[in-house]
Amino acid sequence: DEALREAARLVREVPDFPEPGVLFRDISPMLANGPALNAVVSALGRDFDFDVVAGVEARGFLVGAAVAHAFGTGVIGLRKPGKLPVVADRIEYSLEYGRATLELPAETLRPGQRVLVVDDVLATGGTLGAACRLVRQAGADVAAAAVVLELTALEGRDKILGEKVRALLQV
Ligand code: 5GP
Repeated sequence: DEALREAARLVREVPDFPEPGVLFRDISPMLANGPALNAVVSALGRDFDFDVVAGVEARGFLVGAAVAHAFGTGVIGLRKPGKLPVVADRIEYSLEYGRATLELPAETLRPGQRVLVVDDVLATGGTLGAACRLVRQAGADVAAAAVVLELTALEGRDKILGEKVRALLQV
């Protein structure tokens, strides 16, 4: 819709970040704009049945908390290691270079809850795929995985087969 098209114009392309040859999509200007954030948040959660939102550190916290508030649910931050005082569960996964870990805070997710997993960008899919596996590993259900922007050339969806995936914008 028109509001989302307007929002899309606020994504900034930054060459050679975080390393030479990579074109980074910076959604910060989009999130800083009230109407754009509003359009993004409504579109991310629309028509999904979920009891709680899980946002992936760190930009998934911003988007995820906004979605949770808009739809009247709670929010859970899936965190990088070493940040949480008490960890309920964790998952390790491989990235293009090396490995990474996501942790679920204690006493947040209950078995059987339907979770909307939210992040800003779907790139290779390693992160979003791991977030969905962590939710399932904890006995909850993934209602859907929703991102603002998908970098389709990286074929990240192939790492999240079996989940409902929504990307508002694709490049
Ligand atoms: P993955 O390759 O696992 O799909 O992406 C890894 C993480 O890096 C995700 O949390 C995603 O938000 C972030 N990421 C990867 N590429 C970009 C990008 O171009 N822009 C932004 N904003 N985040 C990115």
